[in-house]
Amino acid sequence: MSRGRRGTPIAPAGRQAAALVGGVEAGGTKFVCAVGASPDDLRARVVLPTTTPAETLAAVIAFFRAQSARLGGLAAIGIGSFGPLGLNPAETDFGHITSTPKPGWQNVDLAGAIGRALQLPVALDTDVNAAALGEHRWGAAQGLDSFVYLTVGTGIGGGVMAEGRLLHGLVHPEIGHMRLPHDRQADPFAGACIFHGDCLEGLASGLALAQRWNAPAQLLPPAHPAWRLEAHYLALGLANLVCTLSPQRLLLGGGVMRQRHLLPMIRQAMLAHLNGYVRASSLLERVEEYVQAPQLGENAGVAGGLALALALDRRGRG
Ligand code: ZN
Repeated sequence: MSRGRRGTPIAPAGRQAAALVGGVEAGGTKFVCAVGASPDDLRARVVLPTTTPAETLAAVIAFFRAQSARLGGLAAIGIGSFGPLGLNPAETDFGHITSTPKPGWQNVDLAGAIGRALQLPVALDTDVNAAALGEHRWGAAQGLDSFVYLTVGTGIGGGVMAEGRLLHGLVHPEIGHMRLPHDRQADPFAGACIFHGDCLEGLASGLALAQRWNAPAQLLPPAHPAWRLEAHYLALGLANLVCTLSPQRLLLGGGVMRQRHLLPMIRQAMLAHLNGYVRASSLLERVEEYVQAPQLGENAGVAGGLALALALDRRGRG
């Protein structure tokens, strides 16, 4: 039950009021923090610049302290963060941002620092796993138990829910770095990934688009050959996900996907790559539903944080 005393709506008879929790979208340029019970019920929200860990985390902690005092306490904090992250409780880097290329942010104990300062349970996951959980709870993946959330922006990342649980495994999925067939005669661009060159992110991220064509994605007109190639690579990635993870749906978000003509091209290319082998009516007959945009829009990241916190709070209360 919510510990809220002021500003908490009165619960309908026979139902407990929803717990107020904190959600954090921890990104490389900004931290979005919010307090609420759902993305439609936000009581406070702030956007903080990502500077040094000490400065940014102090601002995050100050925000939640102030809101907790104002609203009467929070049940938990959920953080969806850029990574890579330590998510194995048996490892010493659990709760940390680990080997990120972002200067100053290697080996930062993100979950521990916030949890200790606020004396609250903290759930940490990748930004994309968090966003997947938000879409599962409130958005385009409601009612499903196996799906993939992919974001195509400056980089490419993916979160996975498999049979009702967010997939972690060895560390966590790194969908953006899967290797793809790359015809160097048709596309001589060597790739933009600093680790692999021509992985999926290296070939199809917003950064790759900008480097290959010397123009940002939003300046390339719909008829430009860039988009056919972009759809080809993203569809190869999706076909691989269909074959390996057997998802019930694929959600595609991120800045590059704001080009509205791209999604239909990706669907058709994906079906061509699969060539009729995976036989499911939801894939073959309802591909517009099978490959679709997320629904939570610009609040997707912070909604993911709230969903992580609510899941933790529910587990904590048994
Ligand atoms: Zn890579």
